[in-house]
Amino acid sequence: MNYWKIKAIYAGQLTFPKVIVGGGGVDTDLVVDFPFTCFLLRNGRENIMVDTGMKDGYTDRMQVGDCKPKGSTKMLLDGLAEEGLTPKDIDAVIYTHLHYDHCGNGHLFMDVPTYIQKAEYANLMNPYGFQQARADYFEDTKEWVRNLSQLILVDGNIKLSNGLELYLTKGHSLGGQTIVVPTEKGRYVLTGDVPASLCCLFPTLDKMTLMDGRVVNITPIKNQRFLMSAFANDFFASYDSHYLQLSLGEKPEPEYFITSHEPGNIFRKYWG
Ligand SMILES: [Zn+2]
Repeated sequence: MNYWKIKAIYAGQLTFPKVIVGGGGVDTDLVVDFPFTCFLLRNGRENIMVDTGMKDGYTDRMQVGDCKPKGSTKMLLDGLAEEGLTPKDIDAVIYTHLHYDHCGNGHLFMDVPTYIQKAEYANLMNPYGFQQARADYFEDTKEWVRNLSQLILVDGNIKLSNGLELYLTKGHSLGGQTIVVPTEKGRYVLTGDVPASLCCLFPTLDKMTLMDGRVVNITPIKNQRFLMSAFANDFFASYDSHYLQLSLGEKPEPEYFITSHEPGNIFRKYWG
């Protein structure tokens, strides 16, 4: 068996009201630093990136009110350096989706197998007008994706020979991709932005771990199966994706689910 370890790489952050990310209409006064996280998967033979973080200059396009977002290529490089790695040591890249905060440094990984859902690729190349207006995808993403030397368009659900499993999970984008990672401690599920926060998948959660490790109380919601954040673009598809995701983890418990913007990712850092 090919066991993996998962490391969260801190690629930036943006400050938001929790209610926007967590949905449910509760905790409207709670404002939280939400990270941009990408992940490094290692099994002793291969080093694989899940998403590639934020590129220099992207934060200039993301100013929200008074909040100054953070994010840079250096943050990704620092995260890899902590493991003694550089971009040249990465053997493959898997994208949860191609929104700018998940693929900013794709240009550093042009010559390795790169797994993108076919529907995500199609949407990147032909975004709807409303997606163009709100800049879901950045123009420079199209350029480097077109030039990838080993682009693998995944059409649905597949299992790779190294044990990783990829699943099409729509709801936030048309080609969202969930990654199941078999580790010594069980099957972990990297959800991307479907959901954006653990409390969307587990509405009865009553605590949230922040980036610095502090734990804050959040309001549990007992009468809804899932919560929809402001980033869920298709509620029906999100529900279907959440039911699928819950069936994929070692157990349907928060421990086995890792969302891309969960503040606690940065404090915890390792799984498996
Ligand atoms: Zn996204």
